[in-house]
Parts: sequence; structure tokens; C-alpha cells
Amino acid sequence: MNPHPDTPTGRIIAQEQAHVARNYDPLPVVVATAEDVWVTDVEGRRYLDLLSAYSALNFGHRHPELVKAAVDQIGRLTLTSRAFRNDRLGAFCAALAELCGKDLVLPMNTGAEAVETGIKAARAWAYRVKGVPADSARIIVAAGNFHGRTTTIVGFSDDPLARDGFGPFTPGFDIVPYADPAAIEAAIDADTAAVLIEPIQGEAGVIIPPPGYLRAVRDMCTRHNVLFIADEIQSGLGRAGTTFACDREGVVPDLYLLGKALGGGIVPVSAVVGDRAVLGVFAPGEHGSTFGGNPVAAAVGLRVVELLRTGEFQQRATDLSPHLRGLLDDLLGHGLTAVRVAGLWAGVDIEPSRGTGRAVAERLLTRGVLVKETHGQTIRIAPPLTIRTADLDWAIDQLRLVLQES
Ligand SMILES: *Cc1c(COP(=O)(O)O)cnc(C)c1O
Repeated sequence: MNPHPDTPTGRIIAQEQAHVARNYDPLPVVVATAEDVWVTDVEGRRYLDLLSAYSALNFGHRHPELVKAAVDQIGRLTLTSRAFRNDRLGAFCAALAELCGKDLVLPMNTGAEAVETGIKAARAWAYRVKGVPADSARIIVAAGNFHGRTTTIVGFSDDPLARDGFGPFTPGFDIVPYADPAAIEAAIDADTAAVLIEPIQGEAGVIIPPPGYLRAVRDMCTRHNVLFIADEIQSGLGRAGTTFACDREGVVPDLYLLGKALGGGIVPVSAVVGDRAVLGVFAPGEHGSTFGGNPVAAAVGLRVVELLRTGEFQQRATDLSPHLRGLLDDLLGHGLTAVRVAGLWAGVDIEPSRGTGRAVAERLLTRGVLVKETHGQTIRIAPPLTIRTADLDWAIDQLRLVLQES
């Protein structure tokens, strides 16, 4: 799919190819403006966004109240660093802690930083509270995980594309099969600090564990004095029909890792949220971030928490979920081989004879729908939670047509 080089799209792609490192292979669409669920490219064509920046845009593009919070704050104060206090951070952290039912918030910027922070907190807790011998703490993770791109994190990925060529890696991680509580219990020993899992695996293709898994993990972590760390960076903040995907089983982890939608699609905001007994392990100077907890992030993050407090976005995802499932189930045997739905979040597997996930994404692009494959044959469907039923129907109809014509 190469647009003509002598178009705005073609010229911008050529410039990118000359000067942007190729760690991504974007679809050939150049977005210029956006509002709610729709984006417009540099040629004036409109597309419905079914990716939502991997759920960073749960509230839609440029939600008016989030934009207002950001613009107001930029007009007052943008950055202090944590060397000084600012008048926004406390209110944001108080609101986020309350949303999570926890004591403390440690603000960072990106998801990977929240994961790294969770790992450091778990290790420090293991040495200082649990009494694990120095430098021997272990963390159990799941096969198929995606927790970000830093060297420590890709070191405990089992995806060759993520890790090959980037070693040597940080030791101290044990990989067990996902959705298998017995495998976790067998891997726990006296040096285990934490179990780190995604309550629903997003990048793996929206893999939903069977009911009872999160409860079993919670119970065994409590029994063995091991921390349960839930990476809710993609699954949390409304996407799965609840504030956190852990809520689906009424389970509360020791640490929530949050990111993506926490920044309202405007600024990068991430956080680790937990009780004082765990997150209280850090002493001043042991961990930090120049931009973490900056006033703009805090102002937007507070507004995000206020939007979530109403419950309307979670409700919208819950209400639309059976409808989305019905539309997708109708395509089973007509181009789809599997459908997994949680809230307003779906992973669908494309019948190989209809082409790869990438090929289907390229054909959907020509029909005005933006999606991305997670890998191979799997496409993720994650529109903003503000989407209207008629728009969702139209978008899934485009998928039906693309599968039909191939
Ligand atoms: C996206 C994601 C991350 C990493 O977030 P970045 O902001 O890209 O660093 C971590 N965990 C999960 C589950 C994610 O989906």
C-alpha cells in the first residue's frame, strides 16, 4: 500500500522514511485532526478509530473537559520537577488513590515506567518487609505478557521480536503459562516477591482468563505472602466494562499499574497505586522522574479520575459489550475463527485464507476504519468508550465487507 509520492500523504511518508527510525511500520494514513471517535487525514478523508491508541483514548479524541483541564493548566504552570511541590499533584493523587481504594500513588509518565516502578517496589518490599536475602528476590510473570519496552521488561517477554538482540537481561523473573493458577503456585518459593500479570492480556490478542483465575491468584498471593501486581495499563480505566479488569472478579491487587487512558489521550501519565505497607518502602532519592507528577499531567489525570468516578464510561462499555459480541459472533465462520470480548474490547482471529491481520487492517483503512493487528492473524477492536451504537455497527459492517471480499 504505497500512496502516490506526489500527494500530501506520500510526501509526509517519504519524509518520515528518511528521518524517523523504523521501530514502527505504520499504516499509510497521515492523521491531521480528530474529534471523539473520528480522525481526519491530511487529504480530508475521515476514519473511525477502532484502536484508540491502544486504549489511551478511552474518552475519545480531545474530550472537551480533558482539553480544558490541560489548556487551563498550561496557562498557569507546566513544570516544577519534584524538587519543589506544585498545587496540582496532591489533589490528583488523593482522587486516584480513592478510586483505587488505596493509600498512596507514585506518579510516572509512561506505562513501562510504571511497570519498572512496580518491580522496584516489589523488590524493596521483599528485602525490607518480607525478609528475602539481598539480591535474590524473584518475580513471577506470565507467558504472552506485554509490559513495555525497557531492557528489563523485554527480558521477561517470551516474544522473540521484543527481546532478540537486546540482551543481556535483568535476572530475577520466572515465566509461567498464563491463566494457569497451579503453575503460579508451583513457581512460588521463599524468595518470591510478587506475581505480575495483566488481568486481561491486551497485546497478546485480548486474552481473557477463565473466571476464577484472578481470584485464585489473589488468594495464593495472600497465602504465600507474595504481592499481586496487576498491570491494568491497557485493561483498566473503563475498557473492560469496569474501572479495573480485576473488578470483574471482585479482586483487589496489592499494586495497580496504570497508564495509557490515565493521561486522557493528551499527555503521558502513569502511576503505581498501593497501600503504605508496600508503596511506603521508597525513601526520598531512591526513585523518581523529572516529569512524573508534573502539573499538566496531574490536572488532566484528576479530570480523568473525575470522569471515571461517574461510572458512565464503564457503563457504556458494559452496555455495548453484548452488542459488539453479537456483531462479531455473526462473523464466526465468515472470516473469523475466534472472538474474545471483554467490555468494549475485542480480539478477533482472522481465518488465514482471508489474509493476515495486517492485510485486513490495510483493507479496512480504505473503507475508513482504523485498526491494528496485535500480531499474525489477530486484530484488536477497541473504540473510544464514547462511540455511538450506529458508528460501531457501521465499523463492524466494514469488517464484514472486507472479510467477504477476500
Ligand atoms: C502499553 C502497555 C504497557 C507499556 O506502556 P507504554 O506507555 O507504552 O510504556 C505496559 N503494560 C501494558 C499491559 C500495556 O498495554
